[in-house]
Amino acid sequence: MIVDLHTHSTASDGVLTPAELVAQALAAGVELMALTDHDTMAGCESAAAAARDTPLELLAGIELSTLWRGRTIHILGIGIDPGASALRAHCQALCAQRIARTEAIGERLTRRARLPGRELARTVLEENPLPTRAHLARALVAQGHARSISDAFARLLGPGSAGHIADDWPAIETTMALLRDAGGNAVIAHPSRYRLSAGALRSLLGEFAKAGGAAIESDNSDAERCARLAGDAGLALSLGSDFHDPQIKWNRLGRFDKLAPGTRSLARQIARC
Ligand code: AMP
Ligand code: MN
Ligand code: MN
Ligand code: MN
Repeated sequence: MIVDLHTHSTASDGVLTPAELVAQALAAGVELMALTDHDTMAGCESAAAAARDTPLELLAGIELSTLWRGRTIHILGIGIDPGASALRAHCQALCAQRIARTEAIGERLTRRARLPGRELARTVLEENPLPTRAHLARALVAQGHARSISDAFARLLGPGSAGHIADDWPAIETTMALLRDAGGNAVIAHPSRYRLSAGALRSLLGEFAKAGGAAIESDNSDAERCARLAGDAGLALSLGSDFHDPQIKWNRLGRFDKLAPGTRSLARQIARC
């Protein structure tokens, strides 16, 4: 089975509309996919409409920004009810927070980096309903203020740089309760990306499992370690590409759902096969 339980559309920082994403997933032979935009479910309805009467089973999903011990952790909600009212209210609050954050980053870029930060932020806000730093990075590159997206993050947006603002997302416990109410499977996205010590990662996974978490995402480059971590915490494994943009060659849509013996696959649990 080819699955992809982590994808983005123009509803957040992906470059394809939900319908274009579904078309590319179908072309790639994906059979089970979740749309998991950052802090919004706005694309789920049109993705579901595009997937209707096709071989692609489309799940509503989300990638929620949360804070654990002062760090940003991304939690995917997969197979949620996009009408769940408490989760919708949470998304609205996150969107408002993101708009204010984008303006604050623009202000810092103006004052500290002597760039047209306010104008950049305004353009990002005009064009994107759910602004992220990825949009700011693209705008910085497009206007010649950074050589590449990674240059924009390293010099202008990331920790220690002129435009950096400490993250202040809702606590992970709040997020877990909302996902439980919305009926979804909670998944820790890209566990290798948080630069946590082995002990801290184990604590996070233990707390997450206790709070009803279902799975951790398997990292392509570190699949064996992810399988061990999931097994130790009693969690399943989830497969997703974190697809944003077809131009990014190393992040193609769709993963073969072939896991090490003895590991449980969230996709198989969902598809009941
Ligand atoms: P935000 O949630 O607004 O902080 O934006 C985070 C998004 O920016 C992530 O979901 C990625 O898509 C992108 N991103 C973060 N760091 C980097 C990086 N170093 N290089 C490229 N993209 C990044
Ligand atoms: Mn992103
Ligand atoms: Mn993420
Ligand atoms: Mn993502």
